[in-house]
Amino acid sequence: SKKIVIVGGVAGGATTATKLRRLDEQAEIIMYERGEFISFANCGLPYHISGVIEERSKLLVQTVKGMETRYNIKIRNYTEVKSIHPENKKITAQNLKTGETFEDSYDVLILSPGAKPIVPPIEGLRSRNVFKLRNIPDMDKIKSYLDEKKPGNAVVIGGGFIGLEMAENLAEAGLSVTIVEKSTQVMGPVDLEMAAIVEDHLRANGVELILGDGIQDVLDNGSEVLLESGKSLKSDIIILAIGVMPENGLAKDAGLELGERGGIKVNGHLQTSDESIYALGDAIEVTDFVNGKPTMIPLAWPANRQAHIVAHHINGKDITYPGTMGTSIVKVFDLTAAVTGNNEKTLKRLGIPYEAVHIHPLSHAGYYPGAEAISLKLIFDKKTGKIFGAQAVGKDGVDKRIDVISTAIKGGLTVHELQELELAYAPPFSSAKDPVNMAGYVAANIMDGMFETIHWHEVDELIANGGYLVDVRTDKECANGCIAGSVNIPLDELRDRLDELPKDKTILITCQVGLRGYLASRILSQNGFRVKNLTGGFKTYSMYK
Ligand code: FAD
Repeated sequence: SKKIVIVGGVAGGATTATKLRRLDEQAEIIMYERGEFISFANCGLPYHISGVIEERSKLLVQTVKGMETRYNIKIRNYTEVKSIHPENKKITAQNLKTGETFEDSYDVLILSPGAKPIVPPIEGLRSRNVFKLRNIPDMDKIKSYLDEKKPGNAVVIGGGFIGLEMAENLAEAGLSVTIVEKSTQVMGPVDLEMAAIVEDHLRANGVELILGDGIQDVLDNGSEVLLESGKSLKSDIIILAIGVMPENGLAKDAGLELGERGGIKVNGHLQTSDESIYALGDAIEVTDFVNGKPTMIPLAWPANRQAHIVAHHINGKDITYPGTMGTSIVKVFDLTAAVTGNNEKTLKRLGIPYEAVHIHPLSHAGYYPGAEAISLKLIFDKKTGKIFGAQAVGKDGVDKRIDVISTAIKGGLTVHELQELELAYAPPFSSAKDPVNMAGYVAANIMDGMFETIHWHEVDELIANGGYLVDVRTDKECANGCIAGSVNIPLDELRDRLDELPKDKTILITCQVGLRGYLASRILSQNGFRVKNLTGGFKTYSMYK
């Protein structure tokens, strides 16, 4: 029988171990974990800090004893694998309680060591009130600091998923929270204007947000954060969440190949440059499913799926991992933001031509109580209809729309085929034309030449250069805010006022969300005008203002 050694006992490691056992009752399986806990719920950690998840024990999905008994796996926790010797298929490990160092052998080695929080080289970050969040002990430390010291002000450094979740949970715990984010937006995986909705919501919930500024220093035993701009913040507690880097030390020292950003390189079967050594999870470089380029996407779904593939491949199945789309989601107070596939920033960087549409449909029929607008962005290839990605922000129904689109991307569906998806409908859940269908119709209309679009970020410049922008909302709507330089002709008067429009210019149209603009575009283009409609209307335009 095979001897399989696993490094890392949480998402990727423990999942691979149990799958291996289900496939092969005879294999000898040994799992090393340097921490105390195995198979805990990393993703739930922020929610115990606020008390939303009350019982700590709920985060401990599996115990060492429970897993050993049920799966006949030898688990060595508190034991760190220190080095790998691929030439004779051995590892050296150290029991962190006793300090004892010993060797073990393997036929197959699996690396799922995860990723560690990035810590910039700033001395003050060693202060006792500075915390990272990766595992149960980290969480316990934050929680007992909150209980004992009762800090009033929190500074969260980093506006990614973990930073946002921590900001929310610290605010829920009664702290006044400031997020400092070096880039000009929170939530890197979505584009600027979509992140702006999340930013507004954070502010509306009392979180102070400082964008485009990073930390310069941490002073006075951690009680003051000095920013690059010179601004200073009072900090009773500091959470550092500026991202993670792969735990690649073992692999690197063993001479295994690494990618550009340090992720362990693997083939389609998730074998490293040594075929007896597999690697998975946050530590590896993956292929971006949409654009085919190498990338790093540290999320739980990929770790889980990769565990399945590794276990099956070791047991002789010809199975491969086709890449990661980066489908992800975050709750920010009562708002949800989710994303799948590539965003505009990525496509621009790679020089891939794309078109984007914005729509703002309701989560379900407007006449049924509780309907909330969803801001949905769909990005696609205007030539082929291939879907590159989607982003959605709203209070209800965001998760299922992004999951449907991610399924469509996986299945290779085009924007035309989004129109054809037959989705579950009754008034409390959706509309007969679901937001996903609607995004498909709008995108397909553009591909079919029914109308042309302009984007929120192009408008000001077009007007400055003499562009003629007609706002087809009512006078009352326009009085509440409109794009500077626009001319107001309500849609219902448009047919009677055609002679007011210049014949020698492309007419730019806007409305509230893009729908009346589309109707106006159809009227005008059939009357011989050249027209472009602002996708997402005034709502998208004003998101980032
Ligand atoms: P991990 O689960 O981190 O496991 C790696 C383990 O290996 C660690 O326990 C480490 O101690 C151990 N180890 C490392 N080196 C050695 C060694 N040399 N010897 C012995 N043991 C070693 N993802 C989502 O998709 N959705 C979420 O909502 C989400 N929320 C998150 C919230 C938080 C606070 C955190 C920290 C992560 C979150 N993630 C989320 C990410 C998700 O948890 C990871 O993508 C996933 O756990 C990766 O699995 P992994 O096996 O690669 O690494």
